[in-house]
Amino acid sequence: ALEADDLHKSFGNIEVLKGVSLAAKKHDVITIIGASGSGKSTFLRCLNLLETPTSGRLRVHGEALDLSLAADGRHDKALQQQIERTRAHLGMVFQQFNLWTHMTVLENVMLGPCTVLKRDKVQVEEKAKALLERVGMLEKCHMYPDQLSGGQKQRVAIARALAMDPDVILLDEPTSALDPELVSEVLLVIRELALEGRTMIMVTHEMRFACDVSSHVIFLHQGQIEEQGPPEQLFHNPQSEHLQRFLSSQY
Ligand code: ATP
Ligand code: MG
Repeated sequence: ALEADDLHKSFGNIEVLKGVSLAAKKHDVITIIGASGSGKSTFLRCLNLLETPTSGRLRVHGEALDLSLAADGRHDKALQQQIERTRAHLGMVFQQFNLWTHMTVLENVMLGPCTVLKRDKVQVEEKAKALLERVGMLEKCHMYPDQLSGGQKQRVAIARALAMDPDVILLDEPTSALDPELVSEVLLVIRELALEGRTMIMVTHEMRFACDVSSHVIFLHQGQIEEQGPPEQLFHNPQSEHLQRFLSSQY
């Protein structure tokens, strides 16, 4: 569903990603862990082209992107259209929710399918309500984001991502802005998505959760994959010293 090959990203003369590769097949749940500043968010942002990788190859929904054009700053129309097409296949859930504050819950969920996918409004609304019901937010569908708790906002953000029928859902620390008592309601929703076979790439500091739901775990260290494998192996039998030290700092 998504392949990234040898992605590099520099800000000025600082190389933040030093050749990171990943292949997400359908139904995979890939978790990325690593210390603050190791490049986790930058990597996710490169996958949906919120950041332009300096070099590397990216393939989403069978379509290869020519990143050399993008890195040159030659954002011609064809490339821009390709980027938009790619993004439409990826759902993104951020730490800070990023909901539109001037729109109701329902309008937030309907916006993408109506404007980007140009779908019929009546059908979009029906589907948006079904998704809101799934995340337990239907009764609040006419409220505004400011009237919701953090956990509720994040559940709306997840419904909004699902409304686009994404190939892959990218989640960047979806629970780390939440009060501790609100974390579990969001993790529960993500766990259900994993159980129903959604393809996800997630950055999280919830190690126990990551160990439970992931099919594959990647440990990033200073912009490189230092170790990767099945969760049992990474969490219970880490090989690299950096990973051992990172894990012991997490509990
Ligand atoms: P955290 O766990 O704190 O979220 P992270 O692993 O997500 O950390 P990134 O946000 O990817 O780390 O940042 C990696 C490095 O890239 C950091 O040193 C950061 O300062 C740098 N960086 C990220 N974005 C930019 C930017 N827009 N301009 C310059 N430097 C950046
Ligand atoms: Mg981050």
